[in-house]
Amino acid sequence: MYNEEAVEAQIAKVEKSLKETHYHKGDRLKVGVDLGTAYIGIVVLNEKNEPVATELQAAHVLKDGIIVDYVGALNLVKTLKEKLELRLGVKLLKASIAMPPGTESSIKTHRYVIEGAEMEVSEVLDEPTAANNVLKITDGAVVDIGGGTTGLSIFKQDQVVYVADEATGGTHLTLVLAGSHHLAIEEAEAFKKDPAHQKEILGSVKAVIEKMATIVKNHIAGYHIDTIYLCGGTCCLPGMETIFEKTVGIRTVKPSNPLLITPTGIAMSCEAFTPEKTYN
Ligand code: ATP
Repeated sequence: MYNEEAVEAQIAKVEKSLKETHYHKGDRLKVGVDLGTAYIGIVVLNEKNEPVATELQAAHVLKDGIIVDYVGALNLVKTLKEKLELRLGVKLLKASIAMPPGTESSIKTHRYVIEGAEMEVSEVLDEPTAANNVLKITDGAVVDIGGGTTGLSIFKQDQVVYVADEATGGTHLTLVLAGSHHLAIEEAEAFKKDPAHQKEILGSVKAVIEKMATIVKNHIAGYHIDTIYLCGGTCCLPGMETIFEKTVGIRTVKPSNPLLITPTGIAMSCEAFTPEKTYN
């Protein structure tokens, strides 16, 4: 059952752990590495799934869920891991990862990045399933709209009965904005994320969001879905849920910080380990 209050409370704590560190000596840890098209993030939880520390950085080392710059991805994961290890004073030994559904053929490269950063891979999940570790729905569709990909999982009685992935996401909204507002890509990306502009840009990108919603609608046709749960950074855009609900015709729910749902869910799947003390 979706417990909105519990989800909001958990994610608010993860958000705080971007700045605050909540590590107590002796805590066993769980780590999730989110290798995304737009961001690379590492979430550290304790054994009770309470947020310990999080690092997030914008990155362009993946395209459509596939690593296109291996060295860049490795260096970024190493850097974020080192930052966390400095904050905690211990070494992180294991991590879970997640892939957009349908990109399983590139699991090996994702694994090499984690292993290259000296962590053992604990679990490999698909992204919407990772998101559902946080959302904990038993029935419904989880739609994870990231930078380059939109992943979708349908749950029936707690089981994943269908997964899909489409090469559409926030990058496409940025491209449309760049064109409509005559901006460079980086400017359009910043413009899109600036709360001051988000109401006004909805008009320019509405058609693209409707297209995304139609893609989702086609995938879920035939399954009796009563609720769609939106997550992924692109869903930070206010009003996404309303456009989805209107286009698909199904109740659509969105947690207040959809960006951190999947990385948190990835960490939740990691086997807890006792970290090694660092001596520097
Ligand atoms: P993918 O899942 O495609 O591999 P990813 O894991 O990097 O990519 P997310 O981190 O879930 O994806 O989301 C990244 C996308 O979210 C980017 O396109 C980014 O522009 C968008 N985004 C992040 N914050 C906001 C915001 N506040 N408003 C609008 N869009 C946002």
